[in-house]
Amino acid sequence: MNKNLTVPFNDLHKNYVSLKSDIDLAIQEVINKSQFINGPQLQKFEKKFAQFCQIKYAAGCANGTAALHLALLACRIKPGDEVITTPMSFIATTEAITYVGAGIKFVDIDPKTYTLDVNKIEQAITKKTKAIIPVHLYGQSADMNPILEIAKANGLAVIEDAAQAHGALYKEHPVGSIGDVGCFSFYPGKNLGAFGDAGAVVTNSKEKSDFMRLLANHGRKDKYDHVIEGYNYRLDSIHAAVLGVKLKYLPHWIKKRQEIARQYSEALSALPIITPKIVDGNNHVFHLYVIMTKKRNELKEFLAGKGVQALVHYPTPIHLLKAYRHLEHKTGDFPVAERLGEQALSLPIYPEMSEPQIQKVIDCITLFFKQ
Ligand SMILES: *Cc1c(COP(=O)(O)O)cnc(C)c1O
Repeated sequence: MNKNLTVPFNDLHKNYVSLKSDIDLAIQEVINKSQFINGPQLQKFEKKFAQFCQIKYAAGCANGTAALHLALLACRIKPGDEVITTPMSFIATTEAITYVGAGIKFVDIDPKTYTLDVNKIEQAITKKTKAIIPVHLYGQSADMNPILEIAKANGLAVIEDAAQAHGALYKEHPVGSIGDVGCFSFYPGKNLGAFGDAGAVVTNSKEKSDFMRLLANHGRKDKYDHVIEGYNYRLDSIHAAVLGVKLKYLPHWIKKRQEIARQYSEALSALPIITPKIVDGNNHVFHLYVIMTKKRNELKEFLAGKGVQALVHYPTPIHLLKAYRHLEHKTGDFPVAERLGEQALSLPIYPEMSEPQIQKVIDCITLFFKQ
């Protein structure tokens, strides 16, 4: 094993260097025009991203959290309504529910895919329930057909949190294009990342798309013609330009991630850990490669000592975060999510990882379980 080789969790600089001339040119073009807001790069990216998602409309916005907020507003979720979602996600998913004044209703996750357990949704529905937000966690789609059926039978909107799953497929359909609105984050570390905060909402509804655009740009139809109060939730031209360049490479990067995941799963399958399960019909894009082990904390520390950076997504399920103490949830309420919080470990995975780096991660984990 190469002692001096380090393996960071991600390497955004290496990613930049691999595209430097394209990116530099695209940014320079924005500066040359100096149309930093609503520049032509934005429309161009939106069109390409809609194509990528196989959907009619895509609108750029400030970040993934704003995307979720816009989607909930477009689905007319109001104070007093309830929205069903998973306790195993990033806090943005539930923050957006609170932004519109709705109540958060958690449903535990499926132990195999870590996405919403579709067998537990119906029992969580009340008269107040108005929407479901499945999260395509780690890069694998939630089980959308049963979710759509339940939504239809109960008159609920479906908002996909696809922040970790750009390009993932559910039975041939790109995530984000399946529910009423799909929400994406282009936070730098996501599979498609900008050079700062950025996001997008996608939908096949012209009405919803127009409304979300209006909301994201101060409710303005024209320069000072504000027809409603909105937000400043725009996507900057520089980010749109960077994203336009990177989107071309995304399918290739996804293949690289899947190849690394395949190598990990093959090499680690004999060890006493749980490796990611891919459901038939799902194309998992491996934003994160998450294993489960009871020795999670010890393994994380062991790897750090060898120069391998592993992280935890997420150590505390949302229902047990201090921010939600007012909801009065307790340990045991959502045991599958809680077990994942205790045992999950995300291994380094990014397209620019070298063979020796991949091998080092495998060797270190193997060594840990041998001693
Ligand atoms: C990253 C992320 C978000 C939030 O995106 P931001 O762009 O950081 O606001 C929302 N949901 C999930 C599941 C995420 O991973």
